[in-house]
Amino acid sequence: MSQESTHTLIQQAIEELEQLKADVSGRVCTPGDPHYAREVSAFNLRSQIRPAFVVAAETPEDVQIAVRFAAAHGLAVGVLSTGHHAFPPQTSHGAVLITTRTMRTVRIDAATASARVGAGALWSDVVGPAQRYGLAPLNGSSAGVGVVGYTLGGGLSPVLGRAYGWAADHVRAIDVVTADGELRHVTEQSDPALFWGLRGGGSNLGIVTSLEFDLFPVTTFYGGGIFHPAEHAEAVLHAYRQVVENAPDELTVSVALLNFPPIPEVPELLRGRFTVHVRVAYLGSDTEAEALIAPLRAVGAPLADTVGRRGYDTFAEVHQDPTDPAPYEDRSVLLTELTPEVVAAVLERVGPASGSVVTVLEIRQLAGALSREAGLPSAAGARDAAFMVWGATVGPPEVVDAGTEDMNTLLKDLTPWSTGRLYQNFTSREAVASDVFAPDVLARLQRIKQQYDPRNVFRAHNHNIAPTPGPAAR
Ligand SMILES: Cc1cc2nc3c(=O)[nH]c(=O)nc-3n(C[C@H](O)[C@H](O)[C@H](O)COP(=O)(O)OP(=O)(O)OC[C@H]3O[C@@H](n4cnc5c(N)ncnc54)[C@H](O)[C@@H]3O)c2cc1C
Repeated sequence: MSQESTHTLIQQAIEELEQLKADVSGRVCTPGDPHYAREVSAFNLRSQIRPAFVVAAETPEDVQIAVRFAAAHGLAVGVLSTGHHAFPPQTSHGAVLITTRTMRTVRIDAATASARVGAGALWSDVVGPAQRYGLAPLNGSSAGVGVVGYTLGGGLSPVLGRAYGWAADHVRAIDVVTADGELRHVTEQSDPALFWGLRGGGSNLGIVTSLEFDLFPVTTFYGGGIFHPAEHAEAVLHAYRQVVENAPDELTVSVALLNFPPIPEVPELLRGRFTVHVRVAYLGSDTEAEALIAPLRAVGAPLADTVGRRGYDTFAEVHQDPTDPAPYEDRSVLLTELTPEVVAAVLERVGPASGSVVTVLEIRQLAGALSREAGLPSAAGARDAAFMVWGATVGPPEVVDAGTEDMNTLLKDLTPWSTGRLYQNFTSREAVASDVFAPDVLARLQRIKQQYDPRNVFRAHNHNIAPTPGPAAR
């Protein structure tokens, strides 16, 4: 569609905005509105989300009304929760953005070991209430990530994932508003195709208003972080290869090379120095855990070691992800194995002696239950990968550009071990659907899209899936 005709459609919709405002219980804001900036704000400050207007939905009915209004006016629709995922600005330009920040209800059902949450719930909203019943969700490393966006993109839990699988495989029911404005309760029984496709296709197929998923009986684990100085980097990475080689599914270890600038926002231990952060989680006895990770401690005296028995509600201490928004650019690759050549490439491009400004380079361990159909089959997940390498550069544009160039070079070096696809939740801004989904999965998603959203209404703030079979738009 030309820019001119999009502009005309927006103008026509704006003229009828008063009616929309009267129909929905949430706020509707246009670019001049003081609330607009808050509604379009994202965790990644490089995200430029500039929709024609925003509907801050408070109820499923608000979502239905907004979708019908946008579809009737020929406008694209996108949905934003926390904005932890960045997409190119053109994917939201001129669209109607539905935000879900206020839809944060959480209900734990101990009898069925499940949770039902609203579209805007964060992991921090779920873990505490679930723990009161001795249960835990398959949440990710950060408490501030949105449950729905995380789960529909796969959902890689750094504590429970290798033991139980992808979060997407453990969804029981999805309430979703499809492009025709209908609110559907979707399960494996009610609509197997849509249920399969939503878990991976996400906001391409509809806007989820609530999600019901499995919880697991976990209250503690043995885990935390070991921080090594820069001079241990090579030894740690080789010890890491040794530890993960025969790791049971109950053990998950990742390693991050941290290269933080000397700014007050960074904890003193890590400020202005290069460190190696080993992230450990084990679902078993302390004695077993200590034996399993011994090589990672044997490389030399660490700067700090917080690994030990801890409550599940302290899960965020394992990765210690940043909690405040920042401008960054990231890149990732999925690997089939972690060879000495991979370690050498990582050290050469972003290691302590490389001179690189990449802020964090993480190697996450996958496989175990993540490589199996551990629950109900879904379109999500990265089942053929054993490791994910992810790197991000935080800072002003010139620093981000330099770090991104280093990451691009590293990814080129790692091509021989790449699965050829990316894990959806860790794609860079530029990634498209064909980077994420295998051709047969993408073709199936395109057919489901054709059935539920033939006009591609849901094409904003996502890896867009074209409704008709054929190559996904780049
Ligand atoms: C610090 C940090 C730590 C992370 N840790 C992990 C981790 O351990 N494991 C992991 O798997 N991922 C992790 N992620 C990635 C994260 O899961 C993805 O970025 C995810 O897409 C974020 O979802 P969100 O809803 O919070 O973000 P948003 O950017 O708001 O949404 C992301 C996507 O989900 C869609 N979406 C959101 N809400 C809905 C809805 N109601 N209906 C339909 N679609 C919807 C959006 O349209 C968008 O396409 C991490 C990211 C960060 C920045």
